[in-house]
Amino acid sequence: MMDQIVQHLKSSGHVFIATHVEPDGDAIGSLLALGLAFESRGIKVTMYNESPIPAVYRFLSSVNRIVHDAAVVIDCDTAIILDCGNIHRIGRVAEKVSQIPFVINIDHHITNNGFGQLKYVDTSACATAEIIYRLIKLMDVTITGEMAASIYTGIMTDTSSFRFSNTNQAAFSICEEMIALGVKPNDIAKRVYGTYSLGRIKLLNLALDSIEISANGKLSMMTLTREMMDETETSSEDTDGLINYARNIEGVEVAVLIQENQNGYKKIRGSKRSTINVSLRSDGAVDVSRIAASFGGGGHISAAGFTANADTTLLGIKKKILGLAEQLWPR
Ligand code: 5GP
Ligand code: MN
Repeated sequence: MMDQIVQHLKSSGHVFIATHVEPDGDAIGSLLALGLAFESRGIKVTMYNESPIPAVYRFLSSVNRIVHDAAVVIDCDTAIILDCGNIHRIGRVAEKVSQIPFVINIDHHITNNGFGQLKYVDTSACATAEIIYRLIKLMDVTITGEMAASIYTGIMTDTSSFRFSNTNQAAFSICEEMIALGVKPNDIAKRVYGTYSLGRIKLLNLALDSIEISANGKLSMMTLTREMMDETETSSEDTDGLINYARNIEGVEVAVLIQENQNGYKKIRGSKRSTINVSLRSDGAVDVSRIAASFGGGGHISAAGFTANADTTLLGIKKKILGLAEQLWPR
């Protein structure tokens, strides 16, 4: 499969590479590493993401090369979609990108729906960056310092610093190689985790206060409203990792973060309503990717998410989530 992908790329004129909206470290790291690797082999690339790049990842200087304007799709003959369980995760351009003659799907989500003409979906990979590393090796690319930092960032963030259950031997062996190539683990950790805006700390306070626990103590729910975000002058990039506070509570098996989306307004019956993003985490006992999939989303066994139907209210979704506790652990 990987050989077929490399073979195809050799004959590509202009490759469009995209990752999911609200990109995390793996999405950005994979996008940059692959884009830079292609360029080093003389392949013309456009790197795309719909959302702004979170400040903590801007130390990877090539993030400036990532475009947010969908117009570029037009003259690309190949699209590579990274870290997305389905093509719609790239956002508004999904329709247009689906019309590119050749779509390649590279991912590690258990809920991947198998879109694209060629796919390399490996659910045992700790991060999409692990698969990108293998692809780059196969293409005989000399890994530069920035490619190394990008791959390292992808693996470090998707494994939550080598703590989550997706942490595998490759996570360490690849990161060791990236360190040999000049990556300073302490530098990258400082960039990604080291500094918080004051707003985030204030938001954390509100977020902790919002935690509710199901009657059986196994499900925790944290809620972030638009008002909380407005009051603390924070944006979605400040909410990364907050769910871990709900997840790490003793006895909790499933944690849920319900977040009103700031920009994603939808007009429903004449009134503007914000969409709601839901993140799910589990200690491994419950497969949250299945729960997310039942709501139209996806993810991994212990980390998944979905966007609630536009006509769902915050209260409605909270009720559904608490009802979930009864379903998951019937008395
Ligand atoms: P997070 O909660 O960090 O946003 O996402 C956790 C995992 O769930 C990630 O692997 C992410 O790709 C997946 N995920 C989050 N939201 C959605 C969604 O709306 N649709 C799908 N298919 N996957 C999602
Ligand atoms: Mn990932």
